[in-house]
Amino acid sequence: MTFSAIVVAAGSGSRAGGDKQYRMLAGKPVVRWSVEALRGAGAGELVVVVAPGAEGRMADALDGLQGWRTVTGGVERADSVRAGLSALTCTDDTPVLIHDAARPLLSRGVIERLIAALEEADGALPALPIADSLRQADAEGVMAGAVDRAGLWRAQTPQAFRRAVIERAYAAWTSPDAPTDEASAVQAAGGTVRLIDGDPRLLKLTYPEDFAMAEALIPRQTRIGSGYDVHRWGPGGSVWLCGIEVPHDRTLIGHSDADAGLHALTDAILGTLAEGDIGDHFPPSDPKWKGASSDQFLLHAAGMVTARGGRIVNVDVTLICEQPKVKPHRLAMRQRIADLLQLPLDAVSVKATTSEGLGFTGRGEGLAAQAVCAIELPAPQPAA
Ligand code: MG
Repeated sequence: MTFSAIVVAAGSGSRAGGDKQYRMLAGKPVVRWSVEALRGAGAGELVVVVAPGAEGRMADALDGLQGWRTVTGGVERADSVRAGLSALTCTDDTPVLIHDAARPLLSRGVIERLIAALEEADGALPALPIADSLRQADAEGVMAGAVDRAGLWRAQTPQAFRRAVIERAYAAWTSPDAPTDEASAVQAAGGTVRLIDGDPRLLKLTYPEDFAMAEALIPRQTRIGSGYDVHRWGPGGSVWLCGIEVPHDRTLIGHSDADAGLHALTDAILGTLAEGDIGDHFPPSDPKWKGASSDQFLLHAAGMVTARGGRIVNVDVTLICEQPKVKPHRLAMRQRIADLLQLPLDAVSVKATTSEGLGFTGRGEGLAAQAVCAIELPAPQPAA
């Protein structure tokens, strides 16, 4: 499936609070969702139309993605589309998908239906039926009449045309007013435009509240990670466990504060992302971490979840030792972890067990901790 794509991202988006194409949606800039979807579906050539001077900002938003380039857009949407078309190098009969950056949740199914529709039509656009009845109202909000919704559809993007068809339609457009959209221009030039099944998730982010709705529509996957850590007992007067300093006649020996509970939990969080272990991120060979509070290891791992647009669902830590008694400190430990991870208390469990005097923990040579963490992570793209 060979096609080209133009992503229009030159608007100011003032109704959504400005520059909505660069706002974060589930860990990614809005515009990046569309570019990844189009690239993932096989777009050979992809032109992103940006406002004058916004090239660097777009480069940041699309950092690490290949196969796209920017062109500067105009004041009107039609000017931006024209600029995008003139930047293409594909053949005349290549399908070109022209898409609004403000519609991030573009599925592969919509892309495939659009391209298939060009076998028989001059243009295609995704559209949704209107379920609500339509009313007219005056400026005061008083109903003035009803509108028959039969034959009415809600138009979405991308709109698809073979390159020569859309270029000819724009060349033939003589009205001083810009066309409403590309499909209107092609229709005015005598072409047939086919409506294909749209996708409710392909909503346009127009108002600030639309972002919350889009976040809720993004499929999420649950991920589980586990962690395990051991530290050796040595001479001391207190011990750090799960972020709390517990008075004790010995301490745990380690490069940092040796908080085995938080270390196991940090590894569990890293495990949800398959991002290695705590030693990869905070090498014990680095003097920077000598005596360090393990809070920062935990916050680093949690920040990696947030950066991917994810959230921690719950954590469960088990401390394995004969001494000190954990139960008197358990609530404080849960509260500390809940504060660090910004979780409700009932999503944070701390448990303790002895090992019946058996093994290294039973003999009091060391303390072991294990932890489990569950997170929700946005799926990379909406399914078909
Ligand atoms: Mg450790």
